[in-house]
Amino acid sequence: MTCEQVRHHLGGYVLGGLSVAEQADTRAHLQRCRDCRDDLAQLEGLPRLLDLVAQEPAQPPASLRDRVVAAAPRPRSKRWLAVAAAAALVIAVAAALSGGPAQGPPPGSLTLALRPSEGFTASGTAAFQATGDRVRVDIALQGLEALERGATYEAWLAEPERGPVSLGRFRPDTSGRAEVGFTAEAPLSRYSWLWVTAEPDARDPAHDSPTVVRERIPGDW
Ligand SMILES: [Zn+2]
Repeated sequence: MTCEQVRHHLGGYVLGGLSVAEQADTRAHLQRCRDCRDDLAQLEGLPRLLDLVAQEPAQPPASLRDRVVAAAPRPRSKRWLAVAAAAALVIAVAAALSGGPAQGPPPGSLTLALRPSEGFTASGTAAFQATGDRVRVDIALQGLEALERGATYEAWLAEPERGPVSLGRFRPDTSGRAEVGFTAEAPLSRYSWLWVTAEPDARDPAHDSPTVVRERIPGDW
């Protein structure tokens, strides 16, 4: 293989997308070519980026492309071609994972995976849908611990200008699941985080309760 051929294959090489023969030829070339090894080093963050994409299949492709390009090294030379080719492959794979652009999420929607805080086992998703001057927020959680009588879970949005905004309170069913819908003022881009707390006393408005799950809301939504 020539260096140029190898550059076209590097994205597939990093992501395990080559045939056995292409993989072997590319590896053989990399063993004897310092330039192509340098190109490879620039692409080694791509599998991690792809994992990120796989966890957020509802991300619109345009914002994903921006993030892939932002994460890639600055263009310096024709090596940029290898990075661009790999970025295009990541976007194509992400589109396939999310069912392709034609079956992707409707415009103005976003789904976040909610991560448990330390010491908690709950997980789930928050799906946002813009509807005019409101944002609908559907939260689905599992693995919630049972609550004492009078206690509730509470969902929050962080608005950097004004502080926490309560979406509302809810209790899980006996299997530790909850599916609840709330609305918030649009646009979603005014909020930076969504999180859920366990509130020991529903009558106490103070916000000093443990966070159960949380996730950052991407600023480019
Ligand atoms: Zn080479």
